[in-house]
Amino acid sequence: MTVEDGPVQRGALLRQVEAELARPWSKIAFGPVVESRYQTAIEPARTRHYILCHLSGMAVFDLFVFVNALIIPDVLVLTIVIDFAVLTPSLLLLVWAMHRRRVPTVVASTIFLFPMLCTMLGLMLASRAQNAVMIAFAIPMVMLYASIALPLPVVHAGIVAAGATILTAAAVALHPGFDLGGGLFAVMLNVSMAGYLLVAAFRNEVSERRFYLLTLRDTLWSERLRARNQRLLSLSDTDGLTGVGNRRSFNARLEGLWRDGAGSASPIALLMIDIDHFKRLNDTYGHLRGDECLRAVAGTVSNTIRGSTGSTFRYGGEEFAVLLAGAEAEQVDRIAERVRSAVEAAVIPLPGGPPDGVGVTVSIGYAAMVPEAGLPHATLISIADAALYKAKQKGRNRVQIGHADFATTLQVA
Ligand code: GH3
Ligand code: MG
Ligand code: MG
Repeated sequence: MTVEDGPVQRGALLRQVEAELARPWSKIAFGPVVESRYQTAIEPARTRHYILCHLSGMAVFDLFVFVNALIIPDVLVLTIVIDFAVLTPSLLLLVWAMHRRRVPTVVASTIFLFPMLCTMLGLMLASRAQNAVMIAFAIPMVMLYASIALPLPVVHAGIVAAGATILTAAAVALHPGFDLGGGLFAVMLNVSMAGYLLVAAFRNEVSERRFYLLTLRDTLWSERLRARNQRLLSLSDTDGLTGVGNRRSFNARLEGLWRDGAGSASPIALLMIDIDHFKRLNDTYGHLRGDECLRAVAGTVSNTIRGSTGSTFRYGGEEFAVLLAGAEAEQVDRIAERVRSAVEAAVIPLPGGPPDGVGVTVSIGYAAMVPEAGLPHATLISIADAALYKAKQKGRNRVQIGHADFATTLQVA
């Protein structure tokens, strides 16, 4: 069982399920929402089961024609015509309609049992054979079928049981073969059978419904826990201020890319992005405006790289990192330049603009490397970092490619 709802609907449904579980057991139907879910959930299996029951039930009913030849031989032709020309074809039609979901299975099955009852009792009334009265004692079979074998919901099983009892009482009263004792015995048998079978049907439906509620409650709880877990996991990977990945997820992603890429020829690229003169901005406008700026830059960077295979992280302070898998140096250079110009074009965020009337800018150092065996991923970070340092030294608001010797010498070109 799965429940494909959001957390709000899931919470509301869970409350309704708890309320249903706390209700008195004597109330059968659930509230509208849970009831409709219940009916939808059980309908496919119920339809399959009803169809199997109807097909096997019809076969049993048809077998009785051979016995009828001995019990009511005077109406044998009528028996055969009604059975094979009317009842069997219409039941097959009903089964087809159920199979194609053309009719509600419960209602159709309830209605269909009445022609069966009428056929049995009508043949009994039509026959003057001595054994015809035995048919009145076979009516509980139909109730048994409705209440236990199918079983119909208790209300529908009750309709069948009440109808069967009334029809039997009427047929018994009309049939000359019953004296008072025999007639009363037949009616009492039907009434008591109807009562006991309905008790069984009721208990059965109550426990089926309860089982459904308990299963649904379990499913809802485990989905809620899974969703909370997922939320916690994503929170533990997210930077609280800017909403991009945090340092922890940066490390995990880089390690993962490095491990997966080992032995392949596909490069991994890292962009180190640092806001220029951010301290000045903070000092001038305060830390709250500084925080706004960090959020705006994070948003601009992640929007700019959206569509590529890259992910954005806050590396620390006013530094961001972008990891790109499978991008060659020229491609990375284009992306880095797009990021730089997008931040510049966004004119973030302050009137007058730091430091001298222009918007916030960033410097970017990047490196792209194939993760070779024995090469630690820290090398990629130090080369990109050294390139960033160089970009700063060259005057800021620029993109600088990193080379292996940067990492060790950190000298300005
Ligand atoms: P440069 O162009 O050389 O990068 O200069 P800079 O001023 O940007 O660099 P510096 O390292 O001198 O200053 C970084 C500042 O970032 C210092 C610190 O107060 C600020 N900072 C770090 N984290 C946060 C934060 O979460 N919120 C705010 N508002 N400021 C932060
Ligand atoms: Mg910095
Ligand atoms: Mg800075």
